[in-house]
Amino acid sequence: MNRGGAVWRSSRLLYMLLAGAVIALALLLIWRGGVFMALRLRLNDIYYAPAATSGTVVIIAADDSSLRRYGRTPADWPRQVYADLADFMSETGARVLALDLLLSESEPDDAAVAEAFGRLRQSDARTRIVLADAGVTTTAILREGAGVLPFALALGISPTLNALADYHGFTNTLPDIDGVIRRQPSLVEIDGQNGLSFSLATYLAYLRIPASAASQVLSFDGSDLLLMSGERRLPVDEWGLWQPYYFAPPAQGNNGAFAVVSLVDVLDGKVDASIFDGKIVLLGLMNTTGTLDQYIVPSSSSGSLMAGIEIQANAIENLVQANPKFITSLDIVLEGALIALLSVAAGLLYALPRWYLKLGIALALVVGWLVVTSAVFTTSFVMISLFDTLLALGVPVVASIGIDITLETLQRKQTEFLLSSLHRIAEQRLQIDQAAEYILEDVGKIAPGSTATLYIVDSVGSDRWMRFRRGEKRVVGPAASPDSSTYHHHLVMAFPFLWQGRQQGILMLKPSHGAQLDGTTGVLLQELVEKLAPHIDNMLLYDEVGRQKLLLDSVFSESPAGIAILDGKGRIVQCNQDLARLLEMNLADIRGKSLPELISLISNKQEMEDQIQNGIGAKTLFTLDEMKLGRHFVRLVIAPLKAYDLWTVIISDVTALVDLSNLKTRMLRIASHDLKNPLARIKGFVDLIFMLSTTLDERDRKYLQFVSDAGDEMLRIIDDILNLERMRSGKLMLSNINLSQMVQEVCARNQPDLIQKQQNLELVIPDSAITVHADAAQLSQAINNFVGNAIKYTPDGGQVTVRLTADGKTVRFEVEDTGYGIPVKAQSKIFSEFYRAKAEGTLHIPGTGLGLSLVKGVIESHNGTVGFTSVEGKGSTFYFTLPEK
Ligand code: ADP
Repeated sequence: MNRGGAVWRSSRLLYMLLAGAVIALALLLIWRGGVFMALRLRLNDIYYAPAATSGTVVIIAADDSSLRRYGRTPADWPRQVYADLADFMSETGARVLALDLLLSESEPDDAAVAEAFGRLRQSDARTRIVLADAGVTTTAILREGAGVLPFALALGISPTLNALADYHGFTNTLPDIDGVIRRQPSLVEIDGQNGLSFSLATYLAYLRIPASAASQVLSFDGSDLLLMSGERRLPVDEWGLWQPYYFAPPAQGNNGAFAVVSLVDVLDGKVDASIFDGKIVLLGLMNTTGTLDQYIVPSSSSGSLMAGIEIQANAIENLVQANPKFITSLDIVLEGALIALLSVAAGLLYALPRWYLKLGIALALVVGWLVVTSAVFTTSFVMISLFDTLLALGVPVVASIGIDITLETLQRKQTEFLLSSLHRIAEQRLQIDQAAEYILEDVGKIAPGSTATLYIVDSVGSDRWMRFRRGEKRVVGPAASPDSSTYHHHLVMAFPFLWQGRQQGILMLKPSHGAQLDGTTGVLLQELVEKLAPHIDNMLLYDEVGRQKLLLDSVFSESPAGIAILDGKGRIVQCNQDLARLLEMNLADIRGKSLPELISLISNKQEMEDQIQNGIGAKTLFTLDEMKLGRHFVRLVIAPLKAYDLWTVIISDVTALVDLSNLKTRMLRIASHDLKNPLARIKGFVDLIFMLSTTLDERDRKYLQFVSDAGDEMLRIIDDILNLERMRSGKLMLSNINLSQMVQEVCARNQPDLIQKQQNLELVIPDSAITVHADAAQLSQAINNFVGNAIKYTPDGGQVTVRLTADGKTVRFEVEDTGYGIPVKAQSKIFSEFYRAKAEGTLHIPGTGLGLSLVKGVIESHNGTVGFTSVEGKGSTFYFTLPEK
């Protein structure tokens, strides 16, 4: 991923370098093409901050009250007004009186004015007089680079006055494209003659340089206007226009950068004459309510207008200041380079951070740039185009965010395209092979030309892997890792499919010969693999579940037993073919039917249905044996599936077993009736021979005794078998039995054997009667077997103890002896049919091995338990318990 990050970074930087260059180019075109000029000019107006003036200029305003008193326009006023002003001025010590009024018509009283002008010039201050004229700009042939502004025509000064003026200057104001007056003419040309602008004329007047000497002190060197033969350089453009600083916003009344007094007040003697001493005094329209001679200037705020005279005052102030604020623009090459540099550098700065940081950086750059350019302006009055440079800083941020969004969208699109194939895999429950094909197809799109190999585990938890390649059949093998020798010389990318700590696969990618895999491919593939991993896992699990289901289905369908799943009401939810066979019905017909009902129908036994229903109600496993179901005998095992509230029923066909059992019963019947009688006859006649014959010798008697004993043994075996069989097949004849009495009777019955073996029998029985509900014959037989065994397997002179106890719920009967005991390894089989333990001293004792299994059968069919403890050579204790009545 690191590699991917580095690639991401370098690609962003490259994109932004290109974007910066393109933006730079576009901005340079806009800049040079003069597009958005108004905006560009307006934006730079923020440079004009109020600044201090030298106090050299005083304005006498031809204001509203003057207009009211003398006439609608200064041109209409009686010329005597000007004579009066000139006379007033001659007493003040003013250095220059400049009239920014067009007095082009000759008037009869011009003579008076002329005289007054003469007096003024002769006053102590030798006040210089500047009059205004104006060029009429139907600019004839423009002489580019001449540094003068050519006028086709001029509104001159009335000749009578002109003769007495020291200077005349053109008062033309030249609005920029946005109507704002920023520039001032310097030299003007009319009729092939160079003239001075009003401000320049006033400046010369202030310096007391005669107008005739103007051409000597002012010259144009091709780029600047050299003032005073090069003492100062006034930067001008090819038309001789220069850009003065505006020291304050347009004055409202008398609050501007310059001292302003009303003409009326001056002539009424209300103004202290000393304020004019040594000053340049300007007369012009100002503080008038009409829109006469008022203009927008860069320092105008909220539409305020500046009087022409105040514009002139600003220009003159610029010229007379010791450190003039002549505004210049940055060198064109420098400014172009700056715009290009800023745009490229800003582009690179924005390339990497996140969008909100980009915006933050852009804001910081803009603020910083404003500070820098303001500092440059206030120190050197070099005006840097804010419009272009701010665009150079700002547009790249937009481009950068745009590129981010585009790249993001592109990647999203790619990812979405991946997602769509993911959807196919996720939603369609695809087979692994199909999914692998899709994945490899996608990988081919992301990394065309490379060889992709996909390994997926054979099944969940398996150590065998399937290998997929495009156009190849799946190969299953023991290992996924590629043979290192195959891939040794190539760069290979490997992407493991990991999900919840399990690795289900790996994607190996080998680039086409000579090619390199780039980081973006890696990032995309990584993303693909990460998104696929859970689906692959699902697919494998789904596969596994499918396999399990298949297994379960085949177990279900192919088991040689009828299997059914029942719901809580005994209805068949699912069943197999064998069940249908046993029920002798169609599979389709029995689904949803009640199994107990079907069984009872077929067997014609309502009780079976009840038994099954009750069993289901009890919610424990239960078995119904040898049930007749149509032509079959079956065994039903019904077990609850507790987690589902369902039951499984397994019905096995035990017809063959039942047949065998019947055969056995018949055989036993034969044994009982057909063997027992002849045997009894044999024994009877042997005994008769014993009793009657007198000719038998000792040896014959011994042989006959053997025959008689063998007959006894055979009868005993037959009895035992018959007893067991009767117990198994017969029904219990239950009645209330006095167990104490039964035990006493059985003990009494064994008295002869006890006597014969000189054994002592101790009987421990409670006084109160103990009653159980049982089959008397079977229970008596069981008690007898325990007591008989104790006597039989205890040597002569031994002790036998019979105990009977009861606790109100359970009755316990036990027989303890001091006999041979039972070897440990024989103990587990002691209740099995025909099993006889071989202990020291018991080998000669006759028996069938059926007695104890009979006891177990009887007691368990009475819901009791049997058991024993025994130590070989020491003795045994056999017991059984029964529920007390
Ligand atoms: P049988 O007595 O006819 O052999 P049983 O089923 O009564 O058959 O007993 C099975 C075996 O258990 C006997 O062969 C004997 O080895 C052993 N056994 C039974 N009771 C005792 C006892 N009280 N002491 C020692 N061994 C006994």
